[in-house]
Amino acid sequence: MTDSKLYDLIIVGGGPAGLTAAIYAMRAALDTVLVEKGVHGGQVANSDTVENYPGFESISGFELSQKFSDHAKSYGVETLQNEVLAVEPGTDFHQVRLDDGQVLKAHAIIVAAGGSPRKLNIPGEDAYYGKGVSYCATCDGFFYKDKTVVVVGGGDAALEEALFLAKIAKQVYLAHRRDAFRGSRILQQRVFDECKIEVLWNTIVTKIKADEKGVNAVVLEDTKSHEERELATEGVFIFIGFEPNNALVPGGVAMNAQGYVITDEKCETRIPGLFVVGDLRQKYARQIVTAAGDGCIAALAAAHYVETKKSSTECAAPE
Ligand code: NAP
Repeated sequence: MTDSKLYDLIIVGGGPAGLTAAIYAMRAALDTVLVEKGVHGGQVANSDTVENYPGFESISGFELSQKFSDHAKSYGVETLQNEVLAVEPGTDFHQVRLDDGQVLKAHAIIVAAGGSPRKLNIPGEDAYYGKGVSYCATCDGFFYKDKTVVVVGGGDAALEEALFLAKIAKQVYLAHRRDAFRGSRILQQRVFDECKIEVLWNTIVTKIKADEKGVNAVVLEDTKSHEERELATEGVFIFIGFEPNNALVPGGVAMNAQGYVITDEKCETRIPGLFVVGDLRQKYARQIVTAAGDGCIAALAAAHYVETKKSSTECAAPE
């Protein structure tokens, strides 16, 4: 790889959307490079069990992400482990700046940067991160064997991770700000059936307390009566959704009020040849399978875009 090389396609992000895009791009014979700053798999790699990806009744998130990565690599896609600092659209080509000073150029770019865990923004959350505060039960659950933990949230992630923690911890409190879960019915039923999980309805965590050994309590507030109480716990696992990683999205690309990128049905932004896929894109359902679907659509559309661009350049060339 040299700074002057012009790729057909750069893929930013190695989660299910980016890796699926790589598979389709390689099958379309696009000269492709995929850039990912961490391990391949994105958020899925941190999920305990995935039960809704077709073809796998139950598979660990890590194993599924490995399969995605191995599949993409089987086509020989070039991969770089770098942080992308900027995505810069141009007229003749687009480019991507990396943390080591490299500048990659390509006819088309697919941004699959996903999202990051949303924070509660309460006292103690940042200070005790890694000392009892966590956003990943699969990564940190092991440390809470026979201990008490509080899980915050009411979506699929909170329900799923509370169930995972119930296999390890002595007691799991699931604090949700409303009186009904947002997560799927099947997960709700499993939570209700799990005797180690106690649901704290209409409850928010307002403060995380700790001593020299780490987290030892949370302050809870009843959202109806506004009464406060303290609950002893050694861990706080926060699963309250995520924020789109839109820092790399260049100016001129439309986003909705929540910061998700608006694309057309080809996952193409207002800038020709710049595609956004997966959890960063405005859409109805953020699932592994929809991320993979986006990756497929964008890569096929990118292949058409690159082919058209190249053939028009060839036709315009003087004899
Ligand atoms: P989510 O569906 O957006 O749920 C976030 C939860 O956190 C909601 O219950 C919300 O409460 C609560 N919440 C948000 N902000 C809060 C705050 N400041 N304080 C307290 N609670 C707050 O997020 P998610 O569970 O991370 O899931 C994200 C997407 O991934 C969803 O589309 C989900 O279906 C998908 N996912 C799927 C699976 C699966 O299918 N197995 C697993 C994980 C994630 P309200 O309900 O009151 O808004």
